[in-house]
Amino acid sequence: MPLYEFRCPEGTTFEATFTMSQAPQILECPSCGQESRRRITAPKLSIANSAQFKLIDSTKRSAHEPEVVSNRLPSSGRSPSTRYTHNPLHQKLPRS
Ligand SMILES: [Zn+2]
Repeated sequence: MPLYEFRCPEGTTFEATFTMSQAPQILECPSCGQESRRRITAPKLSIANSAQFKLIDSTKRSAHEPEVVSNRLPSSGRSPSTRYTHNPLHQKLPRS
């Protein structure tokens, strides 16, 4: 959620997070209780949002790096179908 800055008549500035639609123009000052007007500033991104961006960034990076995928490839190379031809039970059937 964006972080909004408010400034009360006494000059105290404080910040509060609201959704874009819920952000009020006036909020009660936590120190003096007076009406504080929302400052006209660009909404800052909260810590939770920046962490979310890091997550998206790392997800994009892992999509471009083939390391994770290549680790799984060798195990999938041994397909179970080739094992069936070497099944000892199959070798016994025609020879007996
Ligand atoms: Zn105040």
